[in-house]
Amino acid sequence: MTNEEARSGGETFAVVNPATGREVGRYPLMGRAEVDRVVARARETAAEWAQSSFAERKKILCRAAAILADDGRRYAEVVAEETGKTVMDAVLADLFPVGDLLSYYGKNAKKFLQPVKVGRPALLPGRKAYYTFEPKGVVGVISPWNYPFTLSAGPTISALAAGNTVVLKPSSQTTRSGLILQEILEQAGLPRGALQVITGSGSRTGQLLIEHPGLDMLFFTGSTAVGRMVNVKAAERLIPAVMELGGKDAAIVTRQADLDRAAHAAVWGAFFNCGQTCISIELCLVDRAVYEPFLAKVLAIAKDLRSGSRAGEIGSMTMADQLAIVETQVADAREKGAQVLTGGAREGGGPGLFYPPTILTEVTPEMKVMTEETFGPVLPIVPYDNILEALELANRGPYGLSGAVFTRDLEEGRWIARRMHTGSVNINDCLVAYVIPALPFGGVKQSGVGRYHGRLGLQAFCNIKAITEFAYDLTKEPYYYPFPPEGDAAALAVLSVLHSHNPLRRFTALVKLLPGAIKFWRYRNK
Ligand code: NAD
Repeated sequence: MTNEEARSGGETFAVVNPATGREVGRYPLMGRAEVDRVVARARETAAEWAQSSFAERKKILCRAAAILADDGRRYAEVVAEETGKTVMDAVLADLFPVGDLLSYYGKNAKKFLQPVKVGRPALLPGRKAYYTFEPKGVVGVISPWNYPFTLSAGPTISALAAGNTVVLKPSSQTTRSGLILQEILEQAGLPRGALQVITGSGSRTGQLLIEHPGLDMLFFTGSTAVGRMVNVKAAERLIPAVMELGGKDAAIVTRQADLDRAAHAAVWGAFFNCGQTCISIELCLVDRAVYEPFLAKVLAIAKDLRSGSRAGEIGSMTMADQLAIVETQVADAREKGAQVLTGGAREGGGPGLFYPPTILTEVTPEMKVMTEETFGPVLPIVPYDNILEALELANRGPYGLSGAVFTRDLEEGRWIARRMHTGSVNINDCLVAYVIPALPFGGVKQSGVGRYHGRLGLQAFCNIKAITEFAYDLTKEPYYYPFPPEGDAAALAVLSVLHSHNPLRRFTALVKLLPGAIKFWRYRNK
């Protein structure tokens, strides 16, 4: 028994590779004592890490990017082993975005967190006003299994770059993907205790974390149902919480679209990572004028896709529960009259959770597949007669994470993008807004609260402190007690000078105030 297992009372859980059914790891199921110990250590380290210079943080983050690149295959294999995705998918979507974010915040955190000077009202002469960014303290990060490295690393790197310490609870299925993040950052020089990973189930270890009084902020990525509960826990203790939740993202293909590009993008956006992407294309709305040729192109591309574990194949699904949801939704659609043009049934007799790319037509609004998040390799394709109808279908549901528009007419694309109720839109593309580290990412409606990535996303991990400075030798302001006699007339005159649109009234007020203003000006410039 390892020390950690002993401390967790000896309880452990196993992680099984979903593509092979073989056990690939066993970890302690941490309980209260362990979570208390980890949070206490994060608190102890918080003061030291908050004092670290931006130069030191830059060195660590950029070194971590290099370690990730130099040993990329090993890290990608860990992610692939726990999720059932291919190594190629892990490199593209788990390693690239993390490398980019490490370098981006390494280079820019200092610039983004410099004090910002602001102007001040005329009534407060002689003041300097600015705001500063200070670390919040200890940030709890909870991540899901679909991109276990990226979605653990994104908030963790942001929190660390802003000077916070982090307690990370990865999905139990992808525990090792969280642990390698800690390994890489510590190898790059991060002090021990600045990032700690707790291992265990959501309902036990995760619940202990979100209820812990030692946290200053929570960052949650996962389902809307659990996110809502996590947000309530944060609200009870009045700590800020960022929520990155579910999605049901639509792509709109207009009659102006480059149909070849739109078809390739739709297939990739729907089936990459076996469709287990929060921003995947879950619904394709196509102008009826180009519906038939578009459908033919999509089918031709999708029919060549194979399930498997090699580059270019569609990996297995990660969770048996999620596969069951996909099967239920496809069965429901079939029962209600949908046509399954390809896929539609689980593949192979082996232990792997393989489910083929599935394309549905003749879908109607009452089918589950049109209203609920599928989070699997299923693409319903629906024709529309006018763009307002397409927008109504795209915006109808409770989610608002991401969207895509395909058109050669950029004006049309921007017009549609402005009308999609989502946190991001890709024009003539899909998924990519997430991997541009300078773009703030997040959802609207039930897809989330708050943003990360970019300048705004880094500042979200800080307390913003407003500071004013007054450096003159002046005993008292005119508005300190005691007020001067007829102070109200002077105050009203100042108000007129500042804001009245009546020139005569402003002039009269100015004359009234002039002697006092000259006296003050002379005094300040002594
Ligand atoms: P989930 O909500 O089941 O679990 C997410 C995390 O929360 C896991 O680490 C889990 O262990 C933990 N958890 C579960 N119950 C908990 C509890 N009671 N207290 C504390 N923690 C708890 O989600 P999932 O199945 O891992 O991920 C799939 C979902 O995540 C999908 O809905 C998907 O759309 C969403 N997602 C969103 C984004 C985004 O950026 N918006 C990204 C990826 C995935």
